[in-house]
Parts: sequence; structure tokens; C-alpha cells
Amino acid sequence: MVMEPTLPNLGVVQPVDSGTTTMTTDSVSPMATPSIDWDALREAARDAQSHAYAPYSNFRVGAAALVDDGRIIAGCNVENASYGMTLCAECAMIGALHMGGGGRLIAVVCFGNDNAVTPCGRCRQLLWEHGGPNLLLEVNGEPRPMSEMLPVAFPEHSVFEN
Ligand SMILES: [Zn+2]
Repeated sequence: MVMEPTLPNLGVVQPVDSGTTTMTTDSVSPMATPSIDWDALREAARDAQSHAYAPYSNFRVGAAALVDDGRIIAGCNVENASYGMTLCAECAMIGALHMGGGGRLIAVVCFGNDNAVTPCGRCRQLLWEHGGPNLLLEVNGEPRPMSEMLPVAFPEHSVFEN
């Protein structure tokens, strides 16, 4: 028998007071949420690919996300000669999130060589930490919550309590 660990109620974000946001009726996570323009996210992710530094794999990746204050942020992958320590586009995007003042992620789209792709396991944990279980990740054209994409994730800020 496999025991499911009891996780704390994560992803509860303080309401954002912004005139440009709309209230959702989501009873799971009541918060002011910017409406998601998936086309704009796809465009930003595709554009981010063009900035990739991928001379070893030639696999150019771009990631883009909607932040809870309405910003769209993006990142590209950055490789180096050690191969194994390649920085994923999601890592660069999270760096951009913090450089821009932080915030919580609402929705994420990733492209690799002009095809929709999904983040690796490491990056799913990274995304979870910055958006929680209700963060939406586009998979095969459909938004799916991080709670499905990374079941039993490390709870943010409490890794050592596992
Ligand atoms: Zn990754």
C-alpha cells in the first residue's frame, strides 16, 4: 500500500488589487486573475526561441508566462560545452520573473524548434514553486494544472519538512 503524503494547502495567493484584472469564480483559488491570452503567450514563447544559445543541440527553446500582475515574461535555453548543465528556457524565464519584481505565475507556454513542448521534471518543480498547483501549463493545446503535471511536488519553502 502506498501512502499519499499530506501536503499543505498551497497556491493560495493573496488577492491582487489591480484595475486591469478580473475576478474569477474559481472556488478553489479565489483571487484576482488576469485573463489568459494564450495566443500572446505562444507568440512570446516562439519569439523567445530566437534568442536561444543552443550551438550544441540546435534545439532552441522558448518559454513564456503570464504573471499575476498582467506581465508576460519569457526566457530561452542557454547551453554550454558541459552539455549536462544546460540552462532550460524556464530557468531563464524565472530569472526574468525575479528581475522584474517577482510575482506568481498564472499560465505557461513552451516551444522548442517551433513545436509545443513541455518542461522537464526539474523545471516543473521550479514552475510549481512560482505558481503552485493551479498554475496552468499548455500541453497539446490544452491547459493543464501543475497538480497534474507534477503530482506530489515538493511543497515550496518546506522541502525539508518532507
Ligand atoms: Zn527544464
